[in-house]
Amino acid sequence: MPNPLYDRLFAPLAGKPSPFLTQPDGVSISGVEFLAMVHRAAGALRGQGVRAGDRVAVQIAKTPEALAVYGATAAVGAVFLPLNAAYTAAEVDYFVGDAQPALLLVDPARADALAPIAAAHGATLSTLGADGRGGFRDLCDAQPEVFAVENCDEDDLAALLYTSGTTGRSKGAMLTHANLLSNAEALAREWRYAADDVLLHALPIFHTHGLFVATNVTLLSGASMLFLPGFDLDAILRLLPQATVLMGVPTFYTRLLDAPQFDRALCGGMRLFVSGSAPLLAETHVAFEARTGHRILERYGMTETNMNTSNPYAGDRRAGTVGLPLPGVEVIVADPDTGTPLPAGETGVVEVRGPNVFKGYWRMQEKTQEEFRDNGFFITGDLGCFSDDGYLTLVGRQKDLIITGGFNVYPKEVELLLDEQPGVLESAVIGVPHPDFGEAVVAVLVAQPDARLDLAAIDAVLREQLARYKQPKALEIVAELPRNTMGKVQKNLLRQKFDEIFKADAPKNP
Ligand code: AMP
Repeated sequence: MPNPLYDRLFAPLAGKPSPFLTQPDGVSISGVEFLAMVHRAAGALRGQGVRAGDRVAVQIAKTPEALAVYGATAAVGAVFLPLNAAYTAAEVDYFVGDAQPALLLVDPARADALAPIAAAHGATLSTLGADGRGGFRDLCDAQPEVFAVENCDEDDLAALLYTSGTTGRSKGAMLTHANLLSNAEALAREWRYAADDVLLHALPIFHTHGLFVATNVTLLSGASMLFLPGFDLDAILRLLPQATVLMGVPTFYTRLLDAPQFDRALCGGMRLFVSGSAPLLAETHVAFEARTGHRILERYGMTETNMNTSNPYAGDRRAGTVGLPLPGVEVIVADPDTGTPLPAGETGVVEVRGPNVFKGYWRMQEKTQEEFRDNGFFITGDLGCFSDDGYLTLVGRQKDLIITGGFNVYPKEVELLLDEQPGVLESAVIGVPHPDFGEAVVAVLVAQPDARLDLAAIDAVLREQLARYKQPKALEIVAELPRNTMGKVQKNLLRQKFDEIFKADAPKNP
């Protein structure tokens, strides 16, 4: 009975009596044992009335039991819908109302708050806690170790992942078995993943990076992982010598570099550090190599498309770029208005076509149509530019593009220059309303610890090096940039914070 995702990722665990997943306390779960957990959880899902095609929404802590629910959902032919643990009851209400899951699985501590939401939308509520216990676990314990896996087609939905929705309503990206498998295969091959790899898994499993990139590649390769409940610097430093691969968001790497004991010797057994989900500063790349001898491999993807590009495993890993299109994935930089591919060196919108690209937005046919070209390319909304030899550099999101006095300003260009200035730790360049220019460029700066920023000197450099329309009309200092859990700078929050500085009566209006 075929079930592509289950057959390729989970069924092979039957042949793995060695550890598949090791927890920070050193307790391991073998592949065989984990598969039994998947089967019991699948039995429990069926017992809770989950049928093929149903959505299984989970807002639970990252535990081996939670990961088993992902496998179990595939085994029953249902659709896995993980929710960020930080979402409030009101946000969960939106997702549950939109996706109408058969089951809502939550932390026991939130059961009272979320029970009315489940009831209002016709979902069964069950619980699974950070200690792996709860009503759902009790049901699992009562199930047999074997499960009759449901038949599925490769075009059937395997997951529904909501986008972070910083503008407008969050949309559910429908991902099929084929989408997930094709990408796991491409990444495992490109990154030379093998059964003896040990991934240090510290990413959340409600997001494409930790759930699909990290977990699916490990499962597909018959590899194993050190499974941390979250990013814990001390645990990472302690476990690094046992690992071969780390996948992280850029903040993982800056935090590691902040730890004086993080050095080359700790990374002796490592063969690969991967970064993605947000831009890795070239400076971090350089400092990391100097400290460890490893060049971080940066890749680029998104919820809707899985991964699109990656720096090469064997070739030149170029700082500041997201590398080359993955095999089987077509990536173009196109004119935003027409979709016509642009030549290397020109900046346009990044568009993607391939088996990795999602089926569309859940119950949003119009929105889906708007974001696909007639020729099947998905318009990512990221702006980028190819080098002559095919490396893609991202310059920001289309919605972050600043149009000032009719001219386009790509924030990244200004940010790169700002980041080079003495005392600047990092920066974010945003557009805010301006009475004359429509939008004005504003630079938001974070100082390095103990540094005092000389704004006049920075301004002088900007005036010398940037065309006038690109020059920030205000330089603002903040203690830190607002970031979401995946390390992405939330420019929408910065825009809100500074959106009144050029109001006609505001004192800073230049
Ligand atoms: P998400 O759907 O949450 O994974 O967010 C996807 C978005 O993250 C992409 O559209 C990019 O804007 C951004 N992103 C992902 N990887 C990178 C990267 N390596 N560098 C810069 N931005 C990235």
